[in-house]
Amino acid sequence: MTVLVAPKVLSDHRVRDFKMLIDGKWEAGTSHSIERVAPSHGVLVSRYPAGTKADAERAIAAARKAFDNGAWPRMTASERANVLLKAADLIAARAEELAYLDAIEAGKPISQVRGEIAGSVDIWRYAASLARNLHGESYNTLGDGTLGVVLREAIGVVSIITPWNFPFLIVGQKLPFALAAGCTTVVKPSELTSGSTLVLGEILQEAGVPNGVVNIVTGTGAEVGAIMTSHPHVDMVSFTGSTGVGKLTMTNAAQTLKKVSLELGGKNPQIVFPDADLDAFIDAAVFGAYFNAGECCNAGSRLILHKDIASDVVRRVAELAKHVKVGDPLDPTTQVGAIITPQHLEKIGGYLAGARDSGARIAHGGETLDFGMGQFMAPTILEAVTPGMAVAREEVFGPVLSVLTFETTAEAIEIANSIDYGLSAGVWSRDFDTCLTIGRKVRAGTVWMNTFMDGTPELPFGGYKQSGLGRELGRHAVEDYTETKTLNMHVGGRTNWWMPQK
Ligand code: NDP
Repeated sequence: MTVLVAPKVLSDHRVRDFKMLIDGKWEAGTSHSIERVAPSHGVLVSRYPAGTKADAERAIAAARKAFDNGAWPRMTASERANVLLKAADLIAARAEELAYLDAIEAGKPISQVRGEIAGSVDIWRYAASLARNLHGESYNTLGDGTLGVVLREAIGVVSIITPWNFPFLIVGQKLPFALAAGCTTVVKPSELTSGSTLVLGEILQEAGVPNGVVNIVTGTGAEVGAIMTSHPHVDMVSFTGSTGVGKLTMTNAAQTLKKVSLELGGKNPQIVFPDADLDAFIDAAVFGAYFNAGECCNAGSRLILHKDIASDVVRRVAELAKHVKVGDPLDPTTQVGAIITPQHLEKIGGYLAGARDSGARIAHGGETLDFGMGQFMAPTILEAVTPGMAVAREEVFGPVLSVLTFETTAEAIEIANSIDYGLSAGVWSRDFDTCLTIGRKVRAGTVWMNTFMDGTPELPFGGYKQSGLGRELGRHAVEDYTETKTLNMHVGGRTNWWMPQK
C-alpha cells in the first residue's frame, strides 16, 4: 500500500519555447526542437533548440574570446562577487518559476524543489564570499636573494555538463565557483530538463554577466557534450552524471590534457548497529532511499543492518514507507514524484526482476503506479540481498532500497567497501568509537554519523573510487577553477652558472 496523490490535469498549461544563449544572444537554433514531455502528466511542457556541433563550437569560441580579451577575468574580485550576489537575489525573486520548471520537467515534488532553489541561492552567495578570498601564497623565507609568489589564476574556458536529477542545484554547484574565479563557461544541461538552466541564463544577463561569459547550449550529450569535452580551446570540464559518461568525458579530455572534475554515481550504504537511535534511523532510511524518487547519486540505497535488528528494522522501514506520498509533483504534500522517463522505469524494473531471480525478496512495494498519466513507482524494499547481486552493487537510480546484514564491524566495513563506488555513507550508533571507526575506514567522500544526506556549502562534496574525481563546494571550491603560477623573483646580484666571476 502507498499513499497516492493522483496528478491533476494541467488545465491552463502552456508549452514553453526556449532559446539557447550564445555570446549574449538568444538563438532558436538551426535544427529541429527537443520536446520535453512532463514525466508526471504525460503532456508536452517545453521545447528547446537541438544544439549542433557547430553551435557548441561557436559557444566555445565566444567563451574563449571573453576569457582572452573580455572584462570578466580582469575585473576585481569584489566586482565579480557583486554580480554573483545580484544573481542570488534574482534567483530568489524567480524561485517559483524555477521551482515549477524543475518540478514539471524532472517530476520532482514542488516542495522539495523550493528547498533546492533556496539552497542554490545560499550557494551563489557562498561563492561570492569565496571570490573575494581567493588568493595565492608568498614565501619571504627563501633567503635574501629570492622572493617567491604563488598566484592563483582563472583556469580559462570551462565546460559544464549537468544531469536531469537536480537540474538547478547541480549547475549551482559548479557555475558560481567558476565565475568567482574569473573563468568563462559553456553550459550544457540535460536535454530532459534544460528549462531552469536557461532561465538562469536570463538571470545572469540581468545581474551583469558580460556577453560570452556564460553560454548555454541545449542538445544531446552525443552532439554537444562530445565537442565540449574534446575541443582544444576548452581548459577544464566539470561534469555530473553517470560513471560511464564520466569515463568517456575523461577519455575525450585526455587528448588535450584538460583538467577534469567528475561527480558520478553512488551506491551508498547506511550501516546500522543495535545501539542506534532506531526511531531517528527509520525516518532517515526512508528519506535516504526515496528522496527524489531515489534518482539521487547520494541515495542511501543500501542498508547494511546488524543481524540482531535486521528483521525489526525492515518491518519498521516498510511500515513508514507505506505513508510516503507518491504522485503529483505539483501537489505541495507530495514526497515522491515521477520517474524521469518510461525507459528509466523499465531499467528499474529490470533490476527488480534480476534481484528476485537471484533470491532477493520484496518486503514492500515493487509495483509501478498507474495514474493514467506519467510514470511512477512505489517505494520498494528488497531483503535477502547479498553483496554479489547487481542490485547491491550498481546504481539503480530509483526508489529501491536493498537490505544486507552483517555480524561484525569488520564485516560491515568490508561490505560497504566491496563495490566500485565511494560517494557517501551513513553510520548509526550511540557509540562514539563505532561511529569514528566506520567514519575512518569506509572509503567514501562523505560519511554521515547519526544523520543522512545533510549538506551545506561549507562542506566539500565528491567521491572516492569510481564515484568521481575532485570535490565541489567547501572553501577550496573556487581554487578548483584555477591554475597555480609560481613567480620566482631574484633580488640583488646573481651567481652565474658559467660566466667567470669578476
Ligand atoms: P548521463 O551521464 O548520460 O548524462 C549526464 C549529462 O551528460 C547529460 O547532460 C548528458 O546529455 C551528457 N552526456 C551524455 N553523453 C555525453 C557525451 N558523450 N559527452 C558529453 N556529455 C554527455 O546520465 P543520464 O542522464 O543518462 O542518466 C543515466 C544514469 O546515470 C542514471 O540512471 C544514473 O545511474 C546515472 N546518473 C547519475 C547522476 C549523478 O548525480 N551521479 C546524475 C544523473 C544520472 P543528454 O542526456 O542531454 O544527452
